[in-house]
Amino acid sequence: LGSRSTQIVSLTHPNSARAFSVDTTPITATLFPGDGIGPEIADSVKQVFRAADVPIEWEEHYVGTEVDPRTQSFLTWESLESVRRNRVGLKGPMATPIGKGHRSLNLTLRKELNLYANVRPCYSLPGYKTRYDNVDLITIRENTEGEYSGLEHQVVRGVVESLKIITRQASLRVAEYAFHYAKAHGRERVSAIHKANIMQKTDGLFLKCCREVAEKYPEIKYEEVVIDNCCMMLVKNPALFDVLVMPNLYGDIISDLCAGLIGGLGLTPSCNIGEGGIALAEAVHGSAPDIAGKNLANPTALMLSAVTMLRHLELHGKADRIQNAILNTIAEGKYRTADLGGTSTTTDFTKAIIDHL
Ligand code: NAD
Repeated sequence: LGSRSTQIVSLTHPNSARAFSVDTTPITATLFPGDGIGPEIADSVKQVFRAADVPIEWEEHYVGTEVDPRTQSFLTWESLESVRRNRVGLKGPMATPIGKGHRSLNLTLRKELNLYANVRPCYSLPGYKTRYDNVDLITIRENTEGEYSGLEHQVVRGVVESLKIITRQASLRVAEYAFHYAKAHGRERVSAIHKANIMQKTDGLFLKCCREVAEKYPEIKYEEVVIDNCCMMLVKNPALFDVLVMPNLYGDIISDLCAGLIGGLGLTPSCNIGEGGIALAEAVHGSAPDIAGKNLANPTALMLSAVTMLRHLELHGKADRIQNAILNTIAEGKYRTADLGGTSTTTDFTKAIIDHL
């Protein structure tokens, strides 16, 4: 389990400005507990890290209560400076009001820190039965532009316009990351997901960039799949795919679909990769307001995200130990949270993971 898992979630990029090789020197990492279930599951991560003697000192930052003019959002400038300084961090989910209000906290983080690729591993968990037992996918989502550019306005009354921005620079960068990732992790194929038959200019440019990068990696198979067909193929047979790279909004949607294939949003981790080797890990899911404060949340996704952070720091021994404890706890089946059909609280499930360390 250990070596397979290592291969799946290792996210180290060769451009990383920081390479850590000593397992015991304390490293400072930024922690955003976030909103909703965020503080509960962040607390689980802290408990497990403490029990596993992980040499991380957390620098905690909370979402502010008023807009910071320097970030134009409730995120403080100091919290962004913390990630810039530490270059590594873990982020809980952050809530965004629908259709109104301040600039999205997640968008602010991605733009200000130039977190250009969001890597979302998704694999079947041993011992946890879903319709498939062979899911092993990596979704790589462009993270800075597309429909998430935040350029929306009313043209005239009753007509609004939202701009989808695709640039050559961002497309080449995320494609390069995807191919590099595939090569570094022994993956065979990269699929570019698009809707270029309709979005001819934007998705057309994205594909052109992917093709350009694919030529530099002849050992990796390359294919292009229209997004609607991709959804159908994923649901019918997820083994048809390996590494998927796509523009921002498609990545948001496809990765939730992939989470559904293995048991839900409580299980899927991710890591945001930025220029200069910044890695900000976070779960794929949101703040889950329906279960917040009830001790019901599954901390697995955030914990596995924290594991990707450890791998980025080359702390593979600690990462293997924690990842195996999580997966063995779920496989054993005695302690599971409600989203996985169990009756355990977040607290009891966390204790069970610590017992499995
Ligand atoms: P959500 O992911 O918060 O919840 C969707 C469903 O999944 C809910 O039923 C929830 O209870 C369940 N769920 C999610 N995580 C779970 C976990 N760890 N354990 C058990 N069940 C879990 O999506 P939503 O309801 O659409 O969004 C809520 C808020 O989160 C919104 O404000 C949204 O903008 C924000 N959001 C933030 C991020 C992020 O910070 N990266 C991502 C997605 C959504």
